[in-house]
Amino acid sequence: MSAPASPRSTVFRGGLLVTQDGLRRVVRGDLRVEAGRIVSVGPRDTKGADEEVDASGYAIVPGFVNAHTHVAMSLLRGIADDRELAGFLETLFAVDAHRTEADVEAGARAGIAEMLLGGTTSFLDLYYFEDAVARAVEALGIRGFLGWAVLDPELTTQKGIPVDNAAAFLDRWKRHPLVTPLVAPQGVYVCGRETWLRAKDLAARSGALVHYHLAETRREVHEHQEKTGRRPVVWLEEIGFLGPASVAAHAVWLTGEEIALLARRSVGIAHCPSSNLKLASGGVAPVVELRAAGATVGLGTDSVASNNSLSMLREMHVAGLVQKNQRWDASVLTAQELLDLATRDGARLLGRGADLGSLEPGKRADFSLFRLDHPTMLPARPEAIVSHLAYSAAEEAIDSVYVEGLPVVQHRALTRADWTTIRRDGEAAAEALWSSRPKA
Ligand SMILES: [Zn+2]
Repeated sequence: MSAPASPRSTVFRGGLLVTQDGLRRVVRGDLRVEAGRIVSVGPRDTKGADEEVDASGYAIVPGFVNAHTHVAMSLLRGIADDRELAGFLETLFAVDAHRTEADVEAGARAGIAEMLLGGTTSFLDLYYFEDAVARAVEALGIRGFLGWAVLDPELTTQKGIPVDNAAAFLDRWKRHPLVTPLVAPQGVYVCGRETWLRAKDLAARSGALVHYHLAETRREVHEHQEKTGRRPVVWLEEIGFLGPASVAAHAVWLTGEEIALLARRSVGIAHCPSSNLKLASGGVAPVVELRAAGATVGLGTDSVASNNSLSMLREMHVAGLVQKNQRWDASVLTAQELLDLATRDGARLLGRGADLGSLEPGKRADFSLFRLDHPTMLPARPEAIVSHLAYSAAEEAIDSVYVEGLPVVQHRALTRADWTTIRRDGEAAAEALWSSRPKA
């Protein structure tokens, strides 16, 4: 289960280094990688190396962290468009009931291919059959933080008790270099008190993260309030669930009190603006207030059934425009802050701020090479490069992607797998799933 060995050392010469370090330096220089880790960033490197890469025509950018997705749903892109969440979920749950481990793996491979080609090197996933997703992670060479979906036993199509299935999954993958297993309660609409607390307990005992959906729609908030007398965030606090090492996706419908509570309990937030907009959640997540209160916020695409893309470039762009427009204030969520959400803040959400999310000595060598001669990168001036990444860069500008110092994409092709095969398998698996959808 180990990753292929890195060349002992690689030097990328003369690249425009978008470091995302504490000072957010953008410098022209050399980047040295040894045994999968970054050794030096910036100064001219006169030592030899096993491999040298001329990076003078490229910006080197930390790999993106997609902080919320359901990657195996890539076969369901376009299956439930133009419906709000309740109708969308009705179709999705019906199709989900027919999924097999084999089609989850085919879907995960396709989704991971899309993410790697878009410069994403880490992703946080929530689904079931996560062993199949883990095998796809291993095959394609991305970094997967994989949450086994947990819900009340009487509501699941999983065999056995979901929390026990999650525990077994954690056990199977706990020592893998690229797979980080975790537990993922789906949301208050399918998880009762017992399920939330068992999930939290399992995570605490295993040193794992908890990932879940929270306060996505007004309907979720109102129905939970009717059932329990409390809004979801307040209720989760009262049952003793909220705490660190947890990542809540969406967090659109929050009161000021709930924002303060989430920040005080060190709950990380995965902001998913495209999915919220397309499903007409109606509100806009209070990203500015959450950050001001001290919460860590990352960016997620959610699945391609609701986005319909896994592009983090697109997600940065949308996140910026929505916050600015909604507040009549062009100065909120700057290009630099958007790139922070997609890189270093995403890494902090995963509890990996010390070794992912920026180009700094000692960190893992996860990064992308963006072509500076691509039309969407012009003018390729150092002072404009962060702006281009947040607002204009196209995926086609991404030439190569490295994880753990190894190329996983080179000249826009996957290095570890063959897209023709992934596509053929994906189309075949989609056939059965699409024919199982309820007719309108
Ligand atoms: Zn989701």
